[in-house]
Amino acid sequence: MTDFLPFTRPDIDEATIASVADVLRSGWLTTGPKCRELEAALSVRAGGRPVRLVNSATAALEFALRIAGVSAGDEVITTSLSWVATANVILAVGATPVFVDIDPLTRLIDLKLVEQAISAKTKAIIPVDLAGFPVDREGVYRLANQYGIRVVEDAAQSQGANWQGRELGSFGDLVAFSFHPNKNMTTGEGGCLVMNNEDEARLFEKLRLQGVTRAPDGTYDCDVLGGKANLTDIAAAIGLGQLARLDEFNARRRELAKLYCTSLDKLGLGLPPAEFEQSNWHMFQIVLPERLAAQRPKLIAMMKEAGIAVGVHYPAIHTTSLYRQLGWHEGQLPHTEAIAARILTLPLFPAMQKSDIERVCSTLTHVMSQL
Ligand SMILES: *Cc1c(COP(=O)(O)O)cnc(C)c1O
Repeated sequence: MTDFLPFTRPDIDEATIASVADVLRSGWLTTGPKCRELEAALSVRAGGRPVRLVNSATAALEFALRIAGVSAGDEVITTSLSWVATANVILAVGATPVFVDIDPLTRLIDLKLVEQAISAKTKAIIPVDLAGFPVDREGVYRLANQYGIRVVEDAAQSQGANWQGRELGSFGDLVAFSFHPNKNMTTGEGGCLVMNNEDEARLFEKLRLQGVTRAPDGTYDCDVLGGKANLTDIAAAIGLGQLARLDEFNARRRELAKLYCTSLDKLGLGLPPAEFEQSNWHMFQIVLPERLAAQRPKLIAMMKEAGIAVGVHYPAIHTTSLYRQLGWHEGQLPHTEAIAARILTLPLFPAMQKSDIERVCSTLTHVMSQL
């Protein structure tokens, strides 16, 4: 039997493992020199803008909303085709998520609908770069400027992606990246926020660690309610090894994604836009033809039987129980619902071989012919 193919797997090299061992031997495990080194390296990629680490992108997004002044009574416009964290952070700060539908071709938030949803209560927009495919930044910031709204970019999946040649994070408002093990680079768990200025960065530092500001004499003050979301130096050491290889990882993903696009051309599937300059190809997602919509669980089981993991990213957030309790229901976002019901994530990670892609494609072709 051939090896089981997961839908993703991090690539951690021996030098990175050795650097983690060095941290463990150093006697300093929590936030310290490795975190500062990673923040500085991320800031270089962000064109010199301030970057601060936390233990998840969820925390980074929540703190970003706080920095943007979002609170009870405010509305935040976002997409429902995302990981639940995107909307949960809006609830966490006491605000109201307003979901708008996606463009069925890009599967990204439809900016025309964002504009229609803007009200006097709208405080921010959270665009999500699903699968690493960047939301039109020109369009997002045109709306933000025109209506005086903050932007919290959920770039959890789009590390190293760019908009018209400018790397995400190097421009714009508040930009959050995730370093979860499934993302294009990892710290084990972790995330960061790119900010506009040092005042925002100072507030972020307080929010991530108990609201505390330390004085040189060893005393401290606590002036806001902060949480406990700082990253460890153990994690930052992994991140330094990963960041050094991010461009290599993304180039490999683009190459493999290209092969998927040509190999799956004739199966009658919905394929992602064949765009190989801007996207970091965090995921390769297909949309099943309508005739197979009800067969998705069976297809997933048959692929698994053949040793290939496929994922569902994502069930629409507004149709989960928590959001139903808030009044959301099926029928409100037709494109999101139709795609969420038929979308599938095929294996894609840098260590895959072209033969793995061929195996996925031939297995999928066979399985589809059986259904
Ligand atoms: C992974 C992810 C997050 C959350 O990242 P964590 O680091 O796991 O908190 C948020 N939004 C999107 C779109 C994601 O893919």
